[in-house]
Parts: sequence; C-alpha cells; structure tokens
Amino acid sequence: MAIDYQTLAVKGVQGLMPYQPGKPIDELAREFGLDPSGIVKLASNENPLGPSPVALEAARKALSELCRYPDGNGFNLKAKLSEKLGVSATQITLGNGSNDVLEVIARGFADANTDIIYSQYAFAVYPLVTRAIGAHGIEVPARDWGHDLEAMAAAVTDKTGLIFVANPNNPTGTVQSAEAVEKFLASVPERVIVVLDEAYCEYLEGDEHQHSLGLLARYPNLIISRTFSKAWGLAALRVGYGIASAEITDILNRVRQPFNVDAIAQAAATAVLDDDDYLARSRQVNTAGLKQLEHAFDQMALSYIPSSGNFVAVDVGDQAPAIFNQLLAQGVIVRPIAGYGMPRHLRVSVGLSEENQRFIEALAHALEIIEEQKDHG
Ligand code: PMP
Repeated sequence: MAIDYQTLAVKGVQGLMPYQPGKPIDELAREFGLDPSGIVKLASNENPLGPSPVALEAARKALSELCRYPDGNGFNLKAKLSEKLGVSATQITLGNGSNDVLEVIARGFADANTDIIYSQYAFAVYPLVTRAIGAHGIEVPARDWGHDLEAMAAAVTDKTGLIFVANPNNPTGTVQSAEAVEKFLASVPERVIVVLDEAYCEYLEGDEHQHSLGLLARYPNLIISRTFSKAWGLAALRVGYGIASAEITDILNRVRQPFNVDAIAQAAATAVLDDDDYLARSRQVNTAGLKQLEHAFDQMALSYIPSSGNFVAVDVGDQAPAIFNQLLAQGVIVRPIAGYGMPRHLRVSVGLSEENQRFIEALAHALEIIEEQKDHG
C-alpha cells in the first residue's frame, strides 16, 4: 500500500501553510508578458534605494574568499554592532535574516509543552515557527489593528514560555510607545521570554528605537531582534541579529546553525553600519513616501492604518483580490493580506516617489475598472 507521507510529518507541520512571499518581478513578467524593467514591486518591504555602495564594495571584496567557510562567530560584525549599539558582543546572536533569529529563539525556549503568545494581525512567522516546533500558539485579539499589550500580559499562564511582540508590526504598521513596552515587560513574569521584534525600528523618529536597548539590563527575559533587510537595504543577503543577556545569547548560539550567516553578508553588514548617509536617506525617502501614499489615499477617500514601518495597509474594500489582480496586470505588485485576516486591505511598501506615483495611478485606475464592472454587473 502506498504510504501517505503527509501523515508522517510531525503534527504541527501537517497543518502548516508556507509563508507567502511577495511575487517576484520576473515571475509577473513571465505570467503577463510584461517587460520586467517596467514593473514596480512594492510587495516585500524592501529598501527602494538599492543597496548602499559601501555595502556593495565590501561584498565584492569578500567574493575572493568564497572557497572558505565564513567566520562562524561573526567576530567583525558583532564587534561593529557592539560598538554601534553599546552592548557586549556576548549579547549578540547573528541570524540568517531575523527570521532565523526568531526560529532559533522558539527552538531554544519552547517545545510541545509550551504556549507561545502573539497578537492577531502580527507577523506571520510567529504562528509559523510555533507550529513547526509543535508548540501551542495563543493569538490575542488586536486593539485598533495593533497589539493589545495588556491583554497579551493577561493571557500569560503557567504554560507560557514565549511572547512575540512586533514593534512596529507588519503588516499593520502599528507601534507601541516606549512607555507601553516597558509597562508590558514589568507585568510579565521573568520566567517568560519576551521577544521584541524590531525589524522596522530604524524608521522610527529620532532615537526612539534605541530605547529598548536600555531595557535589557532591567529585564533579563528580553530579546530584541533586528535586521539588515529593511532600512539597511540588504534583504538578499539574509542577515539579522538578536540582542539579549549573555546567558540567553549562549542558549541561542547553541541552537543556531554553525555558519548561518555567510561571509558576503557579514562583510556587507559590517560595512553598511558605518554608512550613516545611507540610513539617513532610507529614512527620508520613507517618511516622504509614506506621506505621499497617505495623501493619495485621503484624496481617494480610502482608509488606511497609519504606519510606522516602510509600508502601509490600505482598505480598498471587498474587491481587494480583484484590485490586486488589476494592479498586477498594470505591472504593479503589492501584497494581499487576506491570509492575515485582513481581506479588505492591501499592503503597499514605500517606494521611490515615482514608484509610489505609478502605484497610486494604477490603483485609481483599478478602482475605476472595478466600479465599472459593478455597474455593468
Ligand atoms: N519581523 C518582521 C516584523 C518582519 O516584517 C520581517 C520581514 N518581513 C522580519 C521580521 C524578517 O525579516 P528578515 O528575515 O529579512 O530579517
């Protein structure tokens, strides 16, 4: 009798839906017979500036050593991060993107006997890693699209091992104030690990994003995760990091793969941390682009969730799938987020001003077409 291999997969994995990434430009070009150079991709919260020249140069140099394994301890990158963040290198765990860090944390601190708490509409990787390791996920209803931190703290039980908090959150762009985060940490038992996922923190105004680092000394159960994929513009290289106490970091380093961050990624990430100008431009372009998009949504009378990230979720109504397809036909890729329980919203990443404009015009056109079809239907 033929074996049903589906049934052999561990229980949590049997019910898993793979992470849905943004549609790649080349795929859309093939499907619709479009010229890839005319396609605008605003679907994966990528940095529209292109990579920093400083990072590119460092990556090129590192290519000559492709035959060697990378530094498994990431000495240079950790030293640079330690200098920039004012934490010890013993507090840093490097990851293959911050997704890797999130998974390593889950594997280090949770198993089938653990409950993991996260918010409704929170980043999809939290339920994904929870199920993959056979832990039990507790989804706490959101408040105004954002995390209800009080309800999340109230959901803690003896079985809770881990809580994921995305700040800012993807796909909603909501953010919790420094005070709210601190109040939350103060209300969670110290035996529960709290992950503050700060993938988009560099986009916050002023030095707001440095606040959480100061909490590490007071809250030994805190892990902060960050990434080079967004404001630092290195998404293709897959590099992120966790910051925590030396004790927790030791656990995470036991779990991670020995060479989880490749040599090119390490070199580029180390170099880009000195490119202050690139970071400043990333922030400028993002602030201006968010304004541009929000202004256009106001003009079109579309409601959106005010965002602190490099993307915004806009309510385009109950025809969102049709509008998404209309945009694709016009060579504009955004992200449907029905999988997050947000079937009326599309998430658009902030692009360069001309890319945002292309999207705005394509959206206006798509809305018109859908209206016309309704009238004729
Ligand atoms: N956390 C959040 C909230 C994100 O939106 C993302 C990227 N989609 C990540 C973590 C992971 O990013 P990366 O693995 O590229 O660091």
